[in-house]
Amino acid sequence: MRSVVVKAVGPTACADAVQTGQGQRVVKRPQYGPAHQRTSAALRAEHVARYGWVCPGDPDYDHPLHPSHDLVADHVVPGHPEHGYRIVCRTLNRWYMSASRG
Ligand SMILES: [Zn+2]
Repeated sequence: MRSVVVKAVGPTACADAVQTGQGQRVVKRPQYGPAHQRTSAALRAEHVARYGWVCPGDPDYDHPLHPSHDLVADHVVPGHPEHGYRIVCRTLNRWYMSASRG
């Protein structure tokens, strides 16, 4: 067992990368901050005002329409709020999340 020590190459490259302005890394993962919270709450209120406390269901998941007080706003396209939201119960939302995980 011999440990090989590689000198200079790694540390130098790293220092350069940091100094050329890579400090602020933009993470592209969706983050459900206050903006999302407000939007989903507003959407849910709108849904409840229009349809009542009802989960619209999804035949694709063998999940018929049913009354529910545990409604959440679900992204129509996961991770892309610009495509809008739908209101579903938490159970159905879990199905969507596990399905979209692939
Ligand atoms: Zn449901």
